[in-house]
Amino acid sequence: MCGIFGYVGKSINAARLTYFGLYALQHRGQESSGITVSDGKTLKTYKGMGLVAQVYNEAHLEKLKGPMAIGHNRYSTYAGSFFEHTQPFTGEENIVALAHNGNLPDTRKLIEFLNLKGFKTEGCSDSRLMHITITHFLRKGASLEEAIKQAFPLFVGAFCLLVMTKDKIAATRDQFGIRPLSIGTTNDGFVFASETCSLDTVNAKFIRDVNPGEMVVIEKGKLRSYQIAPPKQNLDIFEFVYFSRPDSTLLGKRVYKVRRNLGKELAKENPIKADVVMPVPDSSLPAAVGYASTIKLPLEFGLVKNRYLGRTFIMPDQKLRDRGVQMNMNTIKEVINGKNVVVIDDSIVRGTTIKKLIRNIREAGAKKVHLLSSCPPIRYPDFYGIDTPIQKNLIAAQMSIKDIEKFVGADSLYYLSYKGLIKATELQEDVFCTSCFTGNYPIDIGDHKNGIRFDV
Ligand code: AMP
Repeated sequence: MCGIFGYVGKSINAARLTYFGLYALQHRGQESSGITVSDGKTLKTYKGMGLVAQVYNEAHLEKLKGPMAIGHNRYSTYAGSFFEHTQPFTGEENIVALAHNGNLPDTRKLIEFLNLKGFKTEGCSDSRLMHITITHFLRKGASLEEAIKQAFPLFVGAFCLLVMTKDKIAATRDQFGIRPLSIGTTNDGFVFASETCSLDTVNAKFIRDVNPGEMVVIEKGKLRSYQIAPPKQNLDIFEFVYFSRPDSTLLGKRVYKVRRNLGKELAKENPIKADVVMPVPDSSLPAAVGYASTIKLPLEFGLVKNRYLGRTFIMPDQKLRDRGVQMNMNTIKEVINGKNVVVIDDSIVRGTTIKKLIRNIREAGAKKVHLLSSCPPIRYPDFYGIDTPIQKNLIAAQMSIKDIEKFVGADSLYYLSYKGLIKATELQEDVFCTSCFTGNYPIDIGDHKNGIRFDV
């Protein structure tokens, strides 16, 4: 995943505004954060491991003065959690900074190109390879626009990029628009953000999304647009299911409303006779509202989350993940004791989280626990920036629904249908990438195909 944010204005506070923007995008990546600022002459970068609140202090921001900045919150996919993967990348030359959200599943073409030019590529993340390529074209004398246009066909995968030289910023998106990227305006400039919620944070007005395959350049206060590749919108539907914040808008739809619709559809498909409906906080809240209001059951918050802990899933290994789950969530006995409860979860990936939660809910005295997932079974790995690249870790790729029910310890388990998912978005199926549910990958995933079972 990752969250990216860019700001071009007249004041010298671009880095500070970027810091606020990154704060609003914290949910998209919690491993590291970085900001590069331009004062018109040079690029200055500050990066660190951890949450936005841990990485920066007043003194750091004081040193980052200038009217243009880009920032990045990292969520690691394949490359692991190390300082050298923190972004924005600037490289030794420090002539261009790059922040990337997404993932390139197939870097063969890119690596071949760079090796031919004499670059070493071992140990480089996909994002670093992109940075090396753009730097290469710039050093050959290309403008930023030309450099990105030349590099673009070498990038096979999902990418939203913010690329900044000392005097301009370019924002570009792969031709399928897998990850979101929006443009906003303030009274003195332009903002780019992974999600519209962070435009609100800096009082920017949403104007539009960067289109799939488009490059938008801001220079001297003017916005120019170039369509680099033919657009075919395939936004990752998982942005609606889980990743984006409910107060963001994707493809013109408020995420909150779509999630509430997911709950409504779930209720139409699976109306359960129970005493109470409980969401797994926080991401399942809107779906639980939709479910409870549709079948007219009381909605209660029997699970309480420690809001100061990060997402358990993001912790790198299973032991840490297990411990995180216990620290993360507590039950309220009075809500649960002696009741038949419907638990709504937005998604079941590995099944680790919900198995533990159900045990806790039973310990709190539940008579029956019915588990409902507000998205269909996740059977296919993701290669476009969500950290689920291994199919055998996906519980729904390994077990039947009945077996999952047994494994997680639920009295019954129901998933929203694929049709219900699409209906809830109020959009057409073909504007989405639905690969994690269907195994249809809109962008070539290269050799990864060989490791996937398509008959699950
Ligand atoms: P688990 O089934 O234990 O792998 O955890 C699933 C829970 O983690 C879901 O209920 C979501 O709240 C959250 N989740 C789903 N997908 C992701 C993801 N790609 N990264 C981080 N958290 C996720």
